[in-house]
Parts: sequence; structure tokens; C-alpha cells
Amino acid sequence: MPKAKVPKPEPQKSNVFVYIAAAISALGGMLFGYDTGVISSAILFIKKEFSLGEKTEEVTVSAVLMGAVIGAAFAGKLADSIGRRKVLIISAIIFAFGSIATALAPNDILLILGRIVVGLAIGAASFTAPMYISEVSPARIRGELVSLNQLAVTVGIVVSYMAGYFLSKVGDWRTMLALAAIPSTVLGVGMFFMPQSPRWLISHANIDKARSVLRRIRRSKDIDGEIKDIQDSIGKQGGGLKELLQPFIRPALIVGIGLAIFQQITGINTVIYYAPTIFEFAGFKSASSAILATLGVGIVNVIMTVVAMQLLDRLGRRPLLLIGLSGMAGSLAILGFAFHLPKMTDAMGWIAAVSLMLYVGFFAIGMGPVFWLLIAEIYPLKVRGMAMSVATIFNWGSNLIVGITFLTLIRLMGRPGTFWLYAGLSIVTWLFVLFLVPETKGKTLEQIEDHWRGGKHPLELDET
Ligand code: BGC
Repeated sequence: MPKAKVPKPEPQKSNVFVYIAAAISALGGMLFGYDTGVISSAILFIKKEFSLGEKTEEVTVSAVLMGAVIGAAFAGKLADSIGRRKVLIISAIIFAFGSIATALAPNDILLILGRIVVGLAIGAASFTAPMYISEVSPARIRGELVSLNQLAVTVGIVVSYMAGYFLSKVGDWRTMLALAAIPSTVLGVGMFFMPQSPRWLISHANIDKARSVLRRIRRSKDIDGEIKDIQDSIGKQGGGLKELLQPFIRPALIVGIGLAIFQQITGINTVIYYAPTIFEFAGFKSASSAILATLGVGIVNVIMTVVAMQLLDRLGRRPLLLIGLSGMAGSLAILGFAFHLPKMTDAMGWIAAVSLMLYVGFFAIGMGPVFWLLIAEIYPLKVRGMAMSVATIFNWGSNLIVGITFLTLIRLMGRPGTFWLYAGLSIVTWLFVLFLVPETKGKTLEQIEDHWRGGKHPLELDET
């Protein structure tokens, strides 16, 4: 007897609008990428112009990181109360204002204050952009869309290296800082025309508006199903700090905070901030060859992020994290070994350079995009802003600590010891991922939330 044909459920389609919304909000990532990269060139000239001592120089560089910790702390509650879109618009305005103010700063004190202001915006936008994208995306392509934000970070870093390279010729640090106002203006104006997050709207009982947003960003007719799922999961939750401290959220908090710290203490920003110095250690004699090699690192970072975007929704988040971390540990071990040799020959210089690039490539297919993606996926809607803000505070805080300890570590443990330490920490991170980090590929945000509510182990999520 011929079998009756069971109609397959129609896959959720999305129209081009969701890509536009994701791309514009991803400019939030560009802000932090650009600033991360540009200051290393700008500081060389700032130091001379304001005759900065070593301490003031350190403060000028790290003021943004301090600002980012504060910005991340404030923006969480704000994103839950006034919405993700408004927080992004406010961040863009603050960032544009801050970068112009730093470009015009007449003295070091005002420059440092301006950089703290820039940091406030960076800290806020760094997690609000992935959160917004994750809430407008259909589950099927959420990994790729949220990682547009990380792509923007890496593009921002490359653009800043180029700006640094060209403007260094004339020593124009003010233009280097002022240029940051361009992406922030596009972000602010662009977000003004984007809709609010439909999930945030539903959590504020604004169902009609959420329906009209979903109609704009999905091609599928079945938006009522999606609205009902979101409403159902909201029905189960309270909000605020009390909810955040509920035992069922604890595993998700551990995953987010753990990954936040591990993303930084495995050393990525020592490479991003100090790549030219590391290349000089490795025997690249002229400053311009070291800068060129650094540009190479930036480009590897971009290309491998694109590769990750293609794989996240197919292979899943966990395999990419595990592969990426194994590669990071291996390449750091080789890097340490290259520096361990009594005399750095030309060949060893090249091995050091290649292992550095491999390290960045492996970071870019795993820990780079996946940390920001996972924290935008694993928290319940009503406390998503606050929970992401906690993870982000730890991320920027650890970034600050690694940045200010790198040169001291090199002094105390030597170059090989320092890179081996980061290699060891990559192995610890690998174990953390293996035992504690859930696979969120293909799950709706509501399914993920239900999973935690059921009090199940993170690794069981893949089976639901
Ligand atoms: C990290 C940054 C890092 C960047 C490099 C991001 O995911 O949070 O600290 O500078 O990746 O691409």
C-alpha cells in the first residue's frame, strides 16, 4: 500500500530584512574592533605630544577597558528596560561624541576622560549588538548572523591597522581617533530605522508591534507559533536580580562567565595589542616589516571568522570551540618553543610568525565568535540583558588584567614561559568546554530557556 505523504513542516524562512538588521547592528562590533587596534599606533604620537610617563601611557591605553567594564555594567538593566535598539543608538551617540572629544583633547587628562567615555559605549554595544541580532534571527541561521558582529570586530581591527599605518607617516593621531566617529554615526542612524527586538517587545506586552516586526523579518506565515512560544516562556519567568540568582540559571551563568574569562586569559589580546613587539622579538628587524606582519595577523583573523560563520550552524558551536582551542594550545606551545631556543635563527623567526598566525586563526574559528554568540543565546529573555552584562564585565575586566600583566609576565617567566602558560590555559578551557558548554545549534531561544528550567545538565541540551 502506498504510504500517505506526511507534509514536512515548512522551514522558517527569513527575508533579506533580517540580514540588513543584523548587519547594521553588527557595526557595534566595529566600534570595539577599531578602537582596540588604533590605540597601539596612536599612542606612539600621543606619548610624545603630551610627554606621557610610563604610568600615564598605560592609563591612556587602558582607560577604554575601564570604561567598557562600567558601560557593560550599566547597559544590561537598560537593555532590559528601554530595549536593545535604544541602547545601541545611545551607545553610538556616546561613541561618536567620545571619539571626536578625544581627537580634539588639548591635554592628557581630557584625553583620558574622553577614552573612558568611549569605553562606556564600547562596553554597552559589545553585548547589546549580539543580543539584538540573536533576538531577530531565526534559529536556523542565528550562529551566522550573530557572528556578523565578531566579523565587524575583526574588520574594525584591520581597518585600524591600516589607518595607523598610513596616518603614522604624518604622525596624525587625532585623525586616527576621529575616524571612529564614522562607523558609529552609521550605526546610530541605521538603528534608528531598524525595528525593536520582537522578543523584547513581547516581554513588554507589546504583542501587536511584535507581530508587525516579525511579519517584516520573517517570510513564513507562521509567526503566531513563534509569538506563542515566546509568550509561553515569558509566562514562566519573573525578572530582575531575584530571577538571575535562581538556581536553575546558575549553570548558564557559569558557562557565560567562564567563557568570558577564558576568552581573554588564553592570550588573544596580547597578540592583538603587542603583535609588532612579538614580531620584533622574533627577529623582524624593521618596524615596517613588523607592522606588515601584524596586518597579516588581522587578515587571518577576518578570513577565519568568515569560515566560522559558514560552519557554526552546520557543525555546531561545541566542535568549533574544541577544534579552535586544540589549535590555539598547539600553536602557543610551538611559539613558546621558538622563543626557547638560545638563538633565534631566521627559520625560527618564521616558525614564530606562522604559529602566531595559526593561533589567531584558531581563535577566530572558535573562542572569538562563539563566546559572544553563546552569551546571546543561553539566558532567559527577562534577564538576558543583566546576565549578558555580567559575562561582559568579566570579559572586559579580564582583558584589562591580561593587558596590564603581559609585559610583567614576560619579565618574570620569560617569553617561552608566558606563551606556555597561555597554552596550558587553553587546555583548561578545552576541558571546561568539553564538560560544561551546551550545544545550541538549531534550538530556538525558548527551547534553550526551557532546558535550563528543567534543571538539566548543559550537555543534555543537544538531546532535546
Ligand atoms: C574579543 C576581543 C578580541 C577580538 C579579536 C573578540 O571576540 O572579545 O577581546 O580583541 O575578538 O578578534
